[in-house]
Amino acid sequence: MSEEKKSLNFLEQIIEEDLANGLPKNKLRFRFPPEPNGYLHIGHAASICLNFGLGLKYNAPVNLRFDDTNPAKEEQEYVDAIKQDIKWLGFKWDKELYSSDYFQQLYDWAVQLIKEGKAYVDNQTSEQIAQQKGTPTEAGTNSPNRNRTVEENLTLFLKMKNGEFEEGSHVLRAKIDMAHTNMHMRDPIMYRILKKHHHRTGDDWCIYPMYDWTHGESDYIEQISHSICTLEFRSHRDLYDWYIDQVYDPLKLRPKQREFARRNLSYTVMSKRKLLQLVEEGVVSGWDDPRMPTISGLRRRGYTPASIRTFSDTAGISKRDNVTDVALLEYCIKDDLNKTAPRVMAVLNPVKVVITNYPDNEEEWLIADNNPEDENAGTRKVPFSKELYIEKEDFREEANKKFFRLKLGKEVRLKNAYIIKAESCIKNENGDVVEIHCTYDKDSKSGSGTEASKRKVKGTLHWVSIKHAIKAEVRVYDRLFTDEAPDGHKDVDFKTFLNPNSLNVIEAFVEPSLKTAKNLDRFQFQRLGYFCVDKDTTENRLVFNRTVPLRDSWAKKSN
Ligand code: ATP
Ligand code: MG
Repeated sequence: MSEEKKSLNFLEQIIEEDLANGLPKNKLRFRFPPEPNGYLHIGHAASICLNFGLGLKYNAPVNLRFDDTNPAKEEQEYVDAIKQDIKWLGFKWDKELYSSDYFQQLYDWAVQLIKEGKAYVDNQTSEQIAQQKGTPTEAGTNSPNRNRTVEENLTLFLKMKNGEFEEGSHVLRAKIDMAHTNMHMRDPIMYRILKKHHHRTGDDWCIYPMYDWTHGESDYIEQISHSICTLEFRSHRDLYDWYIDQVYDPLKLRPKQREFARRNLSYTVMSKRKLLQLVEEGVVSGWDDPRMPTISGLRRRGYTPASIRTFSDTAGISKRDNVTDVALLEYCIKDDLNKTAPRVMAVLNPVKVVITNYPDNEEEWLIADNNPEDENAGTRKVPFSKELYIEKEDFREEANKKFFRLKLGKEVRLKNAYIIKAESCIKNENGDVVEIHCTYDKDSKSGSGTEASKRKVKGTLHWVSIKHAIKAEVRVYDRLFTDEAPDGHKDVDFKTFLNPNSLNVIEAFVEPSLKTAKNLDRFQFQRLGYFCVDKDTTENRLVFNRTVPLRDSWAKKSN
């Protein structure tokens, strides 16, 4: 029992306590409340995995609630993308709901508050309202409109609703306490006028409820037992409770807001506003650019839902602000793809090899394991012939003893094929090697069982047969930012730290089995890394994204 207690996170502990104190288990209910003003990112994934994870753990429903109270920024495109991303991550919501479904109920409750003398219409400017707010150590001052009569307030609020006032001219405020130690309690704004078309309610409303008024009441309407949000809302909790108190029926469940630390990731920015800026300014190709920390970007990059869930679980949840190392995310995808991705051969930076003692027109189809980590993955055939490509960096004319790749006079094994020995090379006028002449040991074929096939040589290289290889575009990505905390520098714009080399487009050669690869298929290009087929692929042109290299070249660079 104590073992089990220890492994609970602090939110689970709160839930367990509530259950122990009499909350019936069938009253547990959670929600994930995105604002449809952008695409979901890896930070949202933390909240999704947390809320839906609690739903699974306690067999409780989880609502998907779109927090759509700001028509200026919200769009149907975002609603659709958010739903797609949550489904892709592998979670199922109970009800699909919208804060805008509650606009009438929220309005009726606001009228009730006015009637009870707990809300008033203020027609001061926003500057005047801000000036009267006070400071954390100094009480605010009452608005001259604070003591309007109920009738006056009802008339004014109705006029606000009917569109008789200009945007910004009037607001409805809760009448709480201008001297409250919590600044959020100093007569917060409940409604503002926005003469904007709403993606769901059209032009029905021109007053829109503020976040705090909406969120708590929506949780109450849906009877959410635990409303989990990020730390910046900790100071809103008094207001959340106050708003619920005004409409609370003791026979009903009282939602509880609890907070955890936002997921921050090194070498990226996570705010939707900044990500939107990158999209709008064309820094990236869209919300699903594979360099983006969005779920759609990670999907296109080749991340699996399982790797993102594992990442969220491993990084865990915390009570204090912190930054998670992006290397953990990269580790999670490597670990997953190592078990699941078929192995293939591709040469990204080719140099030609001619096997001088191999018959001119011969070709062989050699057997290759699809995945040594998965005994059910089977085998495939790869063609071998006299002329091959290997990676340029796998050959040197001369090199020291630590260089286990190909050098003049030495042997290496070609993966799944023969042992070859470099005899000579041809260079162009710049001194670059353009062709390497080798001989092969014809008895050394992998898997043939001969003595020569068991001969150990130090290096094994990947290769493709020139005659059979398919050309492919490979997009090699690096981090989008060169700084660990691009938005953590005072007075320096985060875009200052954009990595000018975050995308490198290469023309590569891949083995012919990839001809039938489809969008999002994932592979290990042996010795290089994990790659997946991009949606830009057409019948005549294969395009791959590098998901992650096998070795962590970044760590090496920064050492
Ligand atoms: P952003 O600042 O990126 O625009 P947001 O908080 O405004 O994010 P919402 O759509 O309001 O975005 O968030 C939906 C839910 O996801 C909220 O409960 C929010 O607390 C949570 N969330 C958003 N960003 C993160 C994050 N980085 N880590 C954990 N949870 C997050
Ligand atoms: Mg928000």
